[in-house]
This record gives sequence, structure tokens and C-alpha cells, in this order.
Amino acid sequence: MPTFPPASLGSPDAVPASWTHRHLLDLERLTADEIRLLLDTAARFKEATHGCRRKLSVLGGRTICNLFFENSTRTKTSFSLAARRLGADVVDFSASGSSLSKGESFIDTAKNLEAMGIDAVVVRHTTPGTPHLLAQHLDVGIINAGDGPHEHPTQGLLDIFSIRERLGDLAGVTVGLVGDIAHSRTARSNIHGLLKLGARVIVCGPPTLVSPRWRELGVEVSHDLDAIVPVCDVLNLLRIQFERQNTRPFPSVREYAHLYAMTAERMERARPGLLILAPGPINRGVEVSAEVADCPQSLILDQVTNGLAVRMAVLWLVCGPRGDASTTTTGDDGRGI
Ligand code: ASP
Repeated sequence: MPTFPPASLGSPDAVPASWTHRHLLDLERLTADEIRLLLDTAARFKEATHGCRRKLSVLGGRTICNLFFENSTRTKTSFSLAARRLGADVVDFSASGSSLSKGESFIDTAKNLEAMGIDAVVVRHTTPGTPHLLAQHLDVGIINAGDGPHEHPTQGLLDIFSIRERLGDLAGVTVGLVGDIAHSRTARSNIHGLLKLGARVIVCGPPTLVSPRWRELGVEVSHDLDAIVPVCDVLNLLRIQFERQNTRPFPSVREYAHLYAMTAERMERARPGLLILAPGPINRGVEVSAEVADCPQSLILDQVTNGLAVRMAVLWLVCGPRGDASTTTTGDDGRGI
């Protein structure tokens, strides 16, 4: 079996001392160096597992609990496979059929799972801040797998990882985030991560889904996809989050697609090497045409593979063995959201 991590990331049997967090709650409060450490660790896991296909045993004896209160295809499977690729056990908690329906509180349920000896919880919930709340009440590592429209840090990391793998340093790279910015946790995590690494970020979509207030985060705002296509190196095409909207933000899906779908015709006006990303699930014909989704510049399936590498890195940093120097934690106990 290949060994991990290589000496450059610290002692061979401990998480590097420069990683001081107990949890991964969001990208907003990570530093650029911490994001780089996550990406470098993911790159090395990808290599050590021969493209995320082989197993290591670095988390042998650890148990990861998936606590998903919202639908998921990629993220839950990806976390489970990543944990197994590192030798950990995985247990899936399903909210339907649990004692939550008998009136048990969310925290009591989580504390019961903790009492069974798990080492980390991967949580997805419709309510923003749920992972941060768990981090205040449990003593195990908490990993945010999407909290409502707030953040989806591993999605942001895998998007950035996929761009960096193709283009190298993010400094000076122009990334357009197109679509439902208002309700997208993927957008928020991308914005925080990309800006910290020096990228230029343009958010684009209809005025009902892209408020001028996004400028306060340091991004540019556009409502005209045709205007931004020629200046972008990367377009990340975000799904319309109908499940989070009370009223429809545009008259018809057809009209939205006419203005904001990335099509073969628009590709002709793009920079030659424009990269296409989409977090999935994709809706062909809405945010992206089938030709663009399947074109050689599309990284959509690379993102899925890279998601495994990123989640291996996160699981390792959150529950891998710690040397003496890294036992102190910074203020990531969930307070402050
Ligand atoms: N899979 C991503 C998420 O869970 C993006 C999406 O659902 O559109 O946020």
C-alpha cells in the first residue's frame, strides 16, 4: 500500500502542526495558507491513491458518521468513499425512521451518535449554522457538507482544486459564477476561497438572483453573461435552487436559459481555454447546454473525482492523528455565526 503523507506535509504519522482546526465549518474563516494546505493535501492524496482509486489505511480504526437531513447524491457518496479509501468505517444516519420523529431533539440525537464512539460527523442540513451548532455541543470533528444556502466548503475546495490542477496558481485567474447566486452555498464557498487565493471573481445572473450587495464581499457583479464570457478563464455554472425559492425569480425557465445558459454559440466568443465547471446536479438545457456539458473543456466529471481527493484531505486533517504541536485549537468551536 502507498504511504501517506509524504515528509513535506509533516511527520509521516501525524496531521501537520500548521493545521490547527478541529472542524471544517466554512471557508470564510480559513486563511489562504490553510486553504492551500487543504489543496496540497488533496493533491497528495490523489497521487497516493492513484487518482482516488486505491486504498490507504491512514484512518484505520476511525468511524465517520454521515448525518444528512437533505438530499444528496455526490456529496454523501463521495464522503463515504473518501472515508473508506482511508481505511475508516462509515455509518449513515437517516433522519426518516429515527427517534427525531418521536420528538428527540437534534442535539440529543447527535449526542447519542457521539456516545457510540464516532470520530467525526459529516452534516448536511437545510438550516444555516447547523454544523456550527453541532461543533458547540459535540467533542468530535464536525464537517459541513452544506448548511442551507450558507456554505458548502468541500464543494468550494473541489472547484478550486479542479481549476488549480489545470491553471496552476489562482492569482489573476478570472472566475465567473453564473446563476442563482442568492441561494447558492456553492457560490459563497467559492467566493471566500477564490478571493483568498487572489482570483478575480464575477458573479452573474438575473438581478432577482444577484444583488449589487455582493460587491461588499469583493466580487464584481454582472447581469449580462454575454459581456463576461470573453473575459473569464473559468465559468462555474450554478443550478437554479428552486427548492429554496418562495417565488419564481424569472418569468420562465426558457427565458432564463436564453439569457444565462452556457451554449456552444457562447463558447465561440470565449477565450480559447475557457474551463467549464458545474457543481451538479446539472440541468441540461437550463444552466448549460448538453454540448457544453460534454465538451473537452468541461471539468464536470473531473470535479467529481477531485471531490474524493478533497474529502480525503478534509477527513485526514479533521480526524487524523495529531502531533503535540497541533493539539491546540483556534476559535472554530462554532461560536460567532
Ligand atoms: N450539490 C450542490 C449543493 O448541494 C449544488 C446544487 O445542489 O446545486 O449545494
